[in-house]
Amino acid sequence: MSENAPTPQDASKRVFIKTYGCQMNVYDSDRMADALAPHGYLPTQEIGEADLVLLNTCHIREKASEKVFSELGRLKELQGEKRAAGGDMMIGVAGCVAQAEGEEIARRAPVVDLVFGPQAYHRLPDMLEKAQGQRHMHPALKKAVIDTDFPEEDKFAHLPAAKKEATIARGLTAFLTVQEGCDKFCSFCVVPYTRGAEVSRPVSQVLDEARRLVDAGVKEITLLGQNVNAYHGTDSAGRDIGLGELCYLLAEISGLERLRYTTSHPRDMDDGLIAAHRDLPLLMPYLHLPVQSGSDRILKAMNRKHTAAEYLALIERIKAARPDMALSGDFIVGFPGETDQDFEDTLSIIRETGYASAYSFKYSTRPGTPGANLGDQVPEEIKTERLYRLQELVNQQTTAFHASMVGKTLPVLIERVGRMPGQVGGRSPYLQAVHLEGSTDLIGAIHQVEIIGTSTNSLVGRLNQAAAA
Ligand code: SAM
Ligand code: SF4
Repeated sequence: MSENAPTPQDASKRVFIKTYGCQMNVYDSDRMADALAPHGYLPTQEIGEADLVLLNTCHIREKASEKVFSELGRLKELQGEKRAAGGDMMIGVAGCVAQAEGEEIARRAPVVDLVFGPQAYHRLPDMLEKAQGQRHMHPALKKAVIDTDFPEEDKFAHLPAAKKEATIARGLTAFLTVQEGCDKFCSFCVVPYTRGAEVSRPVSQVLDEARRLVDAGVKEITLLGQNVNAYHGTDSAGRDIGLGELCYLLAEISGLERLRYTTSHPRDMDDGLIAAHRDLPLLMPYLHLPVQSGSDRILKAMNRKHTAAEYLALIERIKAARPDMALSGDFIVGFPGETDQDFEDTLSIIRETGYASAYSFKYSTRPGTPGANLGDQVPEEIKTERLYRLQELVNQQTTAFHASMVGKTLPVLIERVGRMPGQVGGRSPYLQAVHLEGSTDLIGAIHQVEIIGTSTNSLVGRLNQAAAA
């Protein structure tokens, strides 16, 4: 290590990590913090006191990518102010924009010291050391350190385990990435290019990480993957284990009370996983299962490899296994060639499925994807109008779903103090936020809560002492 690199004893440095995009980026940001901790960097929420700022970026839609460049403009000013006051600050860009744009970021924003993709996080300390070596160079000679390779080695095997205190500080619920990348190549999506091919972590690695999380007090784990139900890990006997079987193994960990997973592809929702929903009470009855469109013509153009009827039949099978399953989805409006009738078909599948929640987006052309070469783009004002109508329908369904909980008693994992004094908050099995009056002693366990009302995005409850008895 060079003399510029901080040592483990020198914990005086601060890193500020700003996370954009999906839960996988949230997980990755924590892993970056874990990788930097032995090198003397402590996380900070105050950007002004940071010695290192990392932007963990998202490339899924154009808006998400462009945000990064406006943030870099602000950071340049902040760096200037710090330097004027005798300090300094290094700047790194990580994540999918870094992977997709690499050199271009350094060219557009020379203020950047490091650019590295999602497969290079374990090499962050080395990259940082190299970048620090350049710090005192003349600006004309200084070059950003860029690492956007897809390495042969297993990144997870090289990332340090989170310190117990760090996990405790992160709370009662945790993400655990079990799978990365995607081989599906939906024609609108950059993920197969930015995250690479589907890779599953070995079963023992996943179980070890889950046990460490539970040992640090985590009660609920959400398994993550761009295509989480495409998980196929190898166990110590060399057997291929799917996501369903992995859930049965995780269910044996004493102290783990809740399990979720996201995001799933309809094609990978196999019998083993559906059976796990039937058999495992800790597997929560909330499933994010995007369909994107209700029109077979558009589903084909999107390369989703299933029809609307197949999706609906799948939902029926899932509900037969777990009748109270709440569903969530993703929708894209205005995919090239989408007609009024195609859009009506999307509204129909939403009506037929009945969602507890859903995310919806206007189609955004992503360079390098097959969709970018399609003609027949849908005008922006039509996309806006369709998005509005779709969101109105979903909002009605969400409101009705919340209202259907009133009068029921639900097990709620109480996780935090509430926004109002004397309140605590948590999540229902269906991932709804629940607020109730109660002492902070309730935090850290699942309590029976009677739902007495709803507000825009959450449920209001009261402790059901009788149910607890
Ligand atoms: N793997 C998941 C699946 O198969 O549905 C989705 C992962 S993607 C990170 C999250 C969501 O972003 C997608 O489900 C899709 O609705 C949306 N999305 C992806 N590419 C998009 C694009 N080019 N324009 C608009 N929305 C997009
Ligand atoms: Fe993107 Fe999901 Fe399709 Fe993979 S399955 S290409 S991540 S939308």
